[in-house]
Amino acid sequence: MTGQPAITLVRGDITEQDADAVVNAANSSLLGGGGVDGAIHRRGGPEILQDCRRLRASRHGAGLPTGQAVATTAGRLPARWVIHTVGPVHSTTEDRGALLASCYRESLRVADELGACTVAFPAISTGVYRWPMDDAARIAVETVRGTRAAVEEVRFVLFDDRAYQAFARQLE
Ligand code: ADP
Repeated sequence: MTGQPAITLVRGDITEQDADAVVNAANSSLLGGGGVDGAIHRRGGPEILQDCRRLRASRHGAGLPTGQAVATTAGRLPARWVIHTVGPVHSTTEDRGALLASCYRESLRVADELGACTVAFPAISTGVYRWPMDDAARIAVETVRGTRAAVEEVRFVLFDDRAYQAFARQLE
């Protein structure tokens, strides 16, 4: 059955979530980076990188385009899958709002394909990619509200109080 997923907010670390799938704010190389990406690979162990390398060797030789999403094992994380998506850099001249919305929509589409019931998202593009938190929260919440999926719960996992408050304001 598809419907609008319930939205929940937690302040915490995405690597500790017991959701079926956790979303990684990856970069297009799929070969690791800082922030969420670094934490997921560190904590999830080498199996995730092995899967990413396989994807590079098969479907995504040129890297994963911005706004798209792809799944791997979650290695040693409590989750079953990691869904890697590439957020837009805020200074990009492309249609960045559409690309950020696409990250959430595509990740949910992949989650549906996997049969995931709960999906945890970080605040994509708000770290190294420098998207203003309030605007990123608006796009994230509006996009999930506008998406029909079999996923039952979308959990936004916010790393600090500022991010948590920005998402909470969008849900009021
Ligand atoms: P991007 O490159 O898409 O900007 P980052 O990983 O640099 O991605 O940051 C995205 C957001 O995730 C930032 O708001 C950052 O504070 C937050 N963040 C960093 N580490 C974690 C973590 N372990 N769990 C949840 N959120 C995190």
